[in-house]
Amino acid sequence: MLRWNGWGDENTTMELPRAGKALLNEWVGETAPSKDYPLEKFLANAPPSRLPEHRLVTVDSMERLVHSHGQSLPDWVALRSGEAMSFVDGVAYPQTTQDIVELLDFASEKDINIIPFGGGTSVVGHLTPRPGERPVLCLSLERMNRLLWIDPGSSLALFEAGVRGPDLEAQLAAHGFTLGHYPQSFECSTLGGWVVTRSSGQQSMYYGRIEALFAGGEMVTPKGLWELLPHPASAAGPDLRQMVLGSEGRMGVLSTAKVRVSPLPEFEAFYGAFLPSWDAGVNAVRNMAVARLPLCMIRLSNPVETVTQLALSGHETQSALVKKYLGLRGISAKSACMILFGLTGQKAFANAGLSQAKSIIRKHGGVVVGQTMGNTWKKKRFLVPYLRNTLWEAGYVVDTLETAVTWDKVTLTMEGFEQAIKEAAAKENEKVHVFTHLSHIYPSGSSVYTSYVFRPGKTPQQTLSRWKRMKDAASNVITRMGGTISHQHGVGEDHAPYLPAEKGKIGMEILKQTFAHMDSQGRMNPGKLLE
Ligand SMILES: Cc1cc2nc3c(=O)[nH]c(=O)nc-3n(C[C@H](O)[C@H](O)[C@H](O)COP(=O)(O)OP(=O)(O)OC[C@H]3O[C@@H](n4cnc5c(N)ncnc54)[C@H](O)[C@@H]3O)c2cc1C
Repeated sequence: MLRWNGWGDENTTMELPRAGKALLNEWVGETAPSKDYPLEKFLANAPPSRLPEHRLVTVDSMERLVHSHGQSLPDWVALRSGEAMSFVDGVAYPQTTQDIVELLDFASEKDINIIPFGGGTSVVGHLTPRPGERPVLCLSLERMNRLLWIDPGSSLALFEAGVRGPDLEAQLAAHGFTLGHYPQSFECSTLGGWVVTRSSGQQSMYYGRIEALFAGGEMVTPKGLWELLPHPASAAGPDLRQMVLGSEGRMGVLSTAKVRVSPLPEFEAFYGAFLPSWDAGVNAVRNMAVARLPLCMIRLSNPVETVTQLALSGHETQSALVKKYLGLRGISAKSACMILFGLTGQKAFANAGLSQAKSIIRKHGGVVVGQTMGNTWKKKRFLVPYLRNTLWEAGYVVDTLETAVTWDKVTLTMEGFEQAIKEAAAKENEKVHVFTHLSHIYPSGSSVYTSYVFRPGKTPQQTLSRWKRMKDAASNVITRMGGTISHQHGVGEDHAPYLPAEKGKIGMEILKQTFAHMDSQGRMNPGKLLE
């Protein structure tokens, strides 16, 4: 059973170690445990549904509540405080593409807006219903979760788009295949959601981002059923799959998706290393990417993130030993930057990649510390988001933001983010704990992923305005650096104001005209992606 007002499975928690709590108090300030708005009140106060009856639609208050938000910070504040919570008017559970066609026809006849819903893991306000005259119907894909066929000869598989990460991988593994797409939200997010938000998995360096994995499929649009064929490659004009990728529910509902799958890897291993400084780390990971080593992931933490990770790991003795060992190897614990890297695929290639990666790390003054840290990362990688629940309940707010920039801007962006967020907090005499890592490394640049922990305001409105100030300051850094407003989370509502700076006048016009053509009545997820 999933939590209704937080992240993930109700029975899973991640503890905040005592040392971590003490450090947070020092970094951010004392704070008191938060008080949650009770579920019963939400259910009792849900506004009446404005929807006419339909065989596939429920107007049950609990169903409406859990389908009226994602995981963005404004969603969290609304859910935890009970303030400014907006409700969809009903939820539909189609089981076939034909059901989706029927629901879009129903919406058109009865003048209803539609929000497609995958796993509800959006962190940028893709799912929040907007106030307006029209009733809002959430179209949840959760019952469309089957593997329909697999063609091992062409390494293709056809899935219903509502399949979640673990179900998708289990169905492929039964045939000896994997998609290899592991966003941190893997447990709850869906194939359809990944495609329409241009998601990036943690091992996308080997398997490719979802753009590379999505071969085609069917989208039910207000114009009719749109089929995209899974050509291995094509020179027949612009690639229309790219219009579906990143469409964020604005053009239609992806009902099925054909994906490019790989045989289960013969070998997989993750390693930890430390570099003496940020600059050394950046040079090392850039060289690893430029050399096109057969790695599946590289992640470089800055010094503050390295200290934070060690403090929050809960392994005080091991962390102390690591610091001592680094000291003996001439690496100061204050400036050390942690690298995690992984190898996937055929053993012979992976072994060759490992020795080249080690050699590049050593050339930059680093030390490789073996597999323990890498294995711990792999074991806990989907557990880390549970810490957000624990932190919130202890009285801390945490959010993340991300971009991708060319190598000349990577360090400037990291510094710009951290400074802008701290200055924004200082305007309210607040401290904020900010740390950054490079999560996806490319030959031409890198993603820059920053997390920040701060105290909530005295009221939900104050918490939101504090967050907005920091988010806006960091988003302006992205615009100044010529970065993308999102490397992997998408645009939704929260990033929409910054999109024109990235796409330009002509680009925005193309998007507007395309959406207006596909959805002339403007009922598909209005207000998202384009303001
Ligand atoms: C803890 C956490 C970690 C995360 N880590 C990552 C990460 O590592 N990489 C990454 O890329 N993202 C990450 N995200 C963001 C999020 O998981 C992705 O954006 C994901 O792709 C959303 O998928 P979903 O199925 O949950 O979609 P939802 O959140 O349900 O929907 C997102 C958008 O897609 C639309 N949509 C969903 N399904 C369909 C469909 N079938 N047809 C048409 N429109 C549809 C919705 O209308 C909405 O606009 C993370 C989020 C959280 C909370």
